Amino acid sequence: MTILDGKILADLVQQRVQQEVEELKIRTGKVPGLTVVIAGNDPASQIYVRGKNKTAEKLGIESRVLELDASVSSSELLDTISRLNMDGDVHGILVQMPLPDHLDEWEILDHIDPAKDVDRFHPVNLGMLTLQRTDIYPCTPAGILETLDHYKIDLSGTHAVVLGRSFIVGKPMAAMLTNRNATVTLCHSRTRDLPSILKQADIIVAAIGKPGFVTADMVKDGVVLVDVGINRLDKKEDVLALCDESQIKKFEKKGYGITGDIHKETFAKSSYYTPVPGGIGAMTVAMLMQNTLRLFKKQLHLD
Ligand code: NDP
Repeated sequence: MTILDGKILADLVQQRVQQEVEELKIRTGKVPGLTVVIAGNDPASQIYVRGKNKTAEKLGIESRVLELDASVSSSELLDTISRLNMDGDVHGILVQMPLPDHLDEWEILDHIDPAKDVDRFHPVNLGMLTLQRTDIYPCTPAGILETLDHYKIDLSGTHAVVLGRSFIVGKPMAAMLTNRNATVTLCHSRTRDLPSILKQADIIVAAIGKPGFVTADMVKDGVVLVDVGINRLDKKEDVLALCDESQIKKFEKKGYGITGDIHKETFAKSSYYTPVPGGIGAMTVAMLMQNTLRLFKKQLHLD
């Protein structure tokens, strides 16, 4: 079994982006601009946004965070997005999810100019993805394909099982794998006899947010395991049962550990697997940077 190391690969992608940003700055006098809009003070979202901002700045991307109050009205948020849509220095706009309950997620996402939609959740971009008419993808499934490609894992003709049907991960992932000639089964909470479907899979992408859900008895030998889940565990017995050594140590210091949706004992049956943390999470941020650069190049007609 080989670990698909998301940290090393994310570093490579980021170095590539940084180099191109520098070259384009010399050529055009401009740099890509990314604006992240966050409404409210969800602690996890604030950590994600800070991380994205820091990485963008490191790569020479002009990064801004607009922090709005949790009580922001729908029209105020839409006005903010309209201004960003018109701003020539902003090439990528990201609205951090989840939004406060009184806001309609789709109304907000629909308002982002599809050309500046760096997360690629606008219905136009999700449609273009399904039709294979775009080469810029939502960050998490993009990070997964980049990882599988880097390690030369051939997808054509394989049976890929995607667990979870969110528009953030599962649905775009299923379309992208189909476009790469995999035969895809997309599973969700109503799927009957999930273990027998998982057992047929050459590749499993697990994105459900249930710690250690996929167990060794559910998969066949040699399967490729892609673990998207990020689950925080606070109880010692759960951490000991589900987390790897690094997270057990982390629990001793910080009082929590992180694990994915695939049980740690399952990896022994795989040919390749992505760890949590240090797998797809790291790649997701790298893909956000790559998407920002690609949108910048398209808007400036540089490719
Ligand atoms: P959502 O909560 O939006 O969707 C979860 C999906 O899992 C739903 O489709 C749901 O089915 C399905 N599901 C839930 N329980 C079961 C079950 N018992 N059997 C089969 N399917 C089930 O999740 P997200 O896609 O946003 O995120 C999933 C996980 O991935 C989370 O842990 C999240 O933190 C992580 N994540 C990680 C990222 C990264 O960068 N690594 C990025 C984004 C997410 P149904 O539709 O029927 O309700």
